Amino acid sequence: MPDDHATLLGRLDAIVGTSNVLRAADDVAPYLVDQRARYHGRALAVLRPGSTEEVASVVRVCAEHALPIVAQGGNTGLCGGATPDASGAALVLSLTRLDRVRGIDAENATITVEAGVPLARVHEAAAAAGLAFPLSLASEGSCTIGGNLSTNAGGTAVLRFGNARELALGLEVVLADGRVWNGLRGLRKDNTGYDLKQLFIGAEGTLGIVTAAVLKLFAAPRTRATAWAGVSGVAAAIALLRLAKGMLGDRLVGFELISDVALELSRRHHPGSPDPLPGHPWYVLLQADDAMADAPLPALMEATLEQAVSQDIARDAVLAQSHDQAARLWGLRENISEAQRREGPNIKHDISLPISAIPAFLAEAERDLAKALPGVRFVVFGHLGDGNLHYNLAPPAGAAPEPFMSNAPLANRLVHDRVHAAGGSISAEHGIGQLKRDALPRYKSPLELELMHRIKDAFDPAGLLNPGKVL
Ligand SMILES: Cc1cc2nc3c(=O)[nH]c(=O)nc-3n(C[C@H](O)[C@H](O)[C@H](O)COP(=O)(O)OP(=O)(O)OC[C@H]3O[C@@H](n4cnc5c(N)ncnc54)[C@H](O)[C@@H]3O)c2cc1C
Repeated sequence: MPDDHATLLGRLDAIVGTSNVLRAADDVAPYLVDQRARYHGRALAVLRPGSTEEVASVVRVCAEHALPIVAQGGNTGLCGGATPDASGAALVLSLTRLDRVRGIDAENATITVEAGVPLARVHEAAAAAGLAFPLSLASEGSCTIGGNLSTNAGGTAVLRFGNARELALGLEVVLADGRVWNGLRGLRKDNTGYDLKQLFIGAEGTLGIVTAAVLKLFAAPRTRATAWAGVSGVAAAIALLRLAKGMLGDRLVGFELISDVALELSRRHHPGSPDPLPGHPWYVLLQADDAMADAPLPALMEATLEQAVSQDIARDAVLAQSHDQAARLWGLRENISEAQRREGPNIKHDISLPISAIPAFLAEAERDLAKALPGVRFVVFGHLGDGNLHYNLAPPAGAAPEPFMSNAPLANRLVHDRVHAAGGSISAEHGIGQLKRDALPRYKSPLELELMHRIKDAFDPAGLLNPGKVL
């Protein structure tokens, strides 16, 4: 080990304590690979600071030694953003020991949490105060608030509550030079100039290290209606969305689209899953919530479904009759990703489009891809209410995955070009990380990229925060 590395590690040791500087191969291994085992990196060490002050001291030392820092929360990100590169020059800064709920202000309907608090614990803390935090992801047991904000996570309740961006009122951030910006304000109105917190949200650790946040809480839902509908196509699903918005108003929280292929996969890999309405090419999972106990929500949902069927918008529909039935319907949707993982590699896309543009996009992309990749199977599902599709491509039935996966760059280009032409985004909710970094310049205007680079230079002039990610 070079002398200056030994000195450096000694200083870091003194800040976070020897047991929180991980260097042994077995100890660091889980921090050096991403969730999908797509990226494998190396690091000088993994540091586990326990407070904002420790994070700030570590960052100051790194700035002095020009040492790159990769922030990591639950490591559930899907774009390789939390994985260091292969040089071994960076430190991984794991935020999971910053795990305190600093406080709940029930009158202000806010909660202040540290960056490493898992999302599920925020749900529990909010529920204990009779309130709710609506960000909802299948990874909620492992992902952290710091990661959620840094990726501007979406999930299944964006339709009603917005992305993580809309749910944060204040942030505490350690800047690239080690100074701490205390922006932990719990204000719903604050027009005192530039909204700095929004720059750090969705920045994937490239502009600062988020150490704490003030989050918005909402009235807890006391009545819930969950339904499953079979539809003839995506245009019909969009018509159902419009009808449901009209009849349920902002009680409509989730509106998920699932193709028959995705459903079959989910059920096959999770034996015992229900098959509520067999025989339709597409399905929609709807959820509506009301803060009022015993609100007439099930009746309203039922009326919506009846009208959808009578107007030939839906072919058939069922309303969950119990909490358990609702959970089993959600299981069908939430198990798709895991089923895909078990099935084998897929070429994945996390895209968003104006909702009205989705049917034409699907028809055109399918035509392009069927020509380029004969026999390709489409595994399409997603948050249709937000215009967000997980548009995944599986190898032809019985074909080996490897030759098919080598077509990923071509398929990505075809899909992303179509998305761009339709006014959409190549990353709806997962971010850019290293996965889409090289694609970004094709779809952002030179001016937009220049502004992004100028922001990066302003916040991190030495380029030490998560280098090689996003830009
Ligand atoms: C089963 C499953 C389902 C998922 N469903 C969804 C979904 O519905 N919607 C969705 O949006 N995502 C989803 N994800 C992706 C993932 O869970 C989210 O991106 C999540 O927000 C990442 O949080 P994390 O704590 O794991 O962050 P990490 O993976 O650790 O990090 C993600 C990025 O944020 C940066 N970062 C992490 N913490 C900090 C910090 N404190 N300060 C600065 N930068 C930081 C990292 O450097 C990295 O660039 C899913 C993932 C899985 C595995």
